[in-house]
Amino acid sequence: MPTQQFRISTGKRRQVTDITSRVQEAVRAAGCDQGLACISVPHCTCTVYVNENESGLVADTLQFINQLPAGGSWQHNRIDNNAEAHLVASLMGSSTCLPVSGGEVELGTWQRIMLGELDGPRERRVTVTVVPG
Ligand code: ZN
Repeated sequence: MPTQQFRISTGKRRQVTDITSRVQEAVRAAGCDQGLACISVPHCTCTVYVNENESGLVADTLQFINQLPAGGSWQHNRIDNNAEAHLVASLMGSSTCLPVSGGEVELGTWQRIMLGELDGPRERRVTVTVVPG
């Protein structure tokens, strides 16, 4: 199957979770040796990005995200009071595409695939679509 899906339950309003091993499992299950993997979340208030999973950088990322505090006078807050989560998700993105080589996502030495929860706790779905090429 070229498209795989898994779920991540987040425990906090804002948190960062390393999903690299889950993505690699999904890519292996897709059975594609060479191509492109698109990792996406069908949500407006979480993000998928690639960076280092170093504790200081994770803390810095959360501090960066928290520069937009909850509440405020955003117009979307009239609906469900989470405009800042939508704004950060727009900036950081809800998908990333990476090369697949040897049946696995190709990453740099320090690169990891991270899910950023911006309005949890929630159950999030991650879709991995592998395109041979
Ligand atoms: Zn909203």
